[in-house]
Amino acid sequence: MRRPSSPSRTSLRTTPSRSVAVVAALASVGLLATACSGSDGGGSAGGGGGDGYPEDNIEVVVPFAAGGPTDTVTRLVADPMSSELGVQMVVQNVEGAGGTVGAGQVAAADPDGYTLLLHHIGMSTAPTLYDDLAYDPVEDFTPVGLVTEVPMTIIARSDLEPETLEELFAYLQENGQDVTVATAGVGAASQLCAQLIQQELGVELNQVPYDGTGPAIADLVGGQVDVMCDQTTNTSGQIAGGEVKAYAVTTPERVESLPDLETTAEAGFPDLEISVWHALYAPAGTPEEDVEVLQGALATALEDPAVVEQMAELGTAPVPVEEATTEAVSTRLQEQIDLWSGVLG
Ligand code: ASP
Repeated sequence: MRRPSSPSRTSLRTTPSRSVAVVAALASVGLLATACSGSDGGGSAGGGGGDGYPEDNIEVVVPFAAGGPTDTVTRLVADPMSSELGVQMVVQNVEGAGGTVGAGQVAAADPDGYTLLLHHIGMSTAPTLYDDLAYDPVEDFTPVGLVTEVPMTIIARSDLEPETLEELFAYLQENGQDVTVATAGVGAASQLCAQLIQQELGVELNQVPYDGTGPAIADLVGGQVDVMCDQTTNTSGQIAGGEVKAYAVTTPERVESLPDLETTAEAGFPDLEISVWHALYAPAGTPEEDVEVLQGALATALEDPAVVEQMAELGTAPVPVEEATTEAVSTRLQEQIDLWSGVLG
């Protein structure tokens, strides 16, 4: 039987000062069914630890809306993890406040191995951005492992005038508050990128918060908002299909799946370098042997050829399997908390 519940408990790199060189810790198509309805709910591989864990489906909280990049990455790895564990990894979207609502829910969950969180850079920016954060990203979680690191892209509605990044930035400076920028709320990667652009240009834009960049990109395609900066895991399809105007990718190298999209450095903004890491977490106090079971399943997912292929189509790759560890996440998280408190504090 499932153990009784424990008592409920409540590579961004940046160059100094105004430069926006950031490897931000870091998330479509046809994936929405994988985790929730991808099998009969039982699985077949029958993985698990010596104590029988897991014996029930595992809820994975995504702290943003369905259809966005964090959701996409989660569903990609949840499918092979479900097969490996012999139970379903069931994705729950718990949106709000730049990812802090979902993260807070997992921090307060029973540490029994049956509630997890897949989050990105927001884990490291929230302590600086929120005075009243209901959780401590270091103390209240046991990291399971890193998952992926995703480039970002700067995009706009397809009929926005500027044709190059230089022209776009001049347009933003000229039009300021008249330009709407879609974000997933304070602390989200998209909002962080918007902040960094504002900081770089010395301008205030009209930021429009959504529950996630899945719904945000729908509005960008529809022309309801002007500009967005978001992970390739959310923007690749719309860029390739010409549904949005793409200006640059925010990594030092071009993305193989978007070969025509120049880098921010090529466009004349070498300091604007951003990518977004994602990691899987359990609530602090989750039994070590259960975390090890999850790490084994995550490692399998990271090497799954279908995951590698689908991530490549979306401009990213799984992290090396050695990074499916508590230590890899803990190190990254602390580095990033320190970095962002300096940049945003
Ligand atoms: N990409 C979003 C962000 O700005 C979150 C999401 O919808 O996955 O952080």
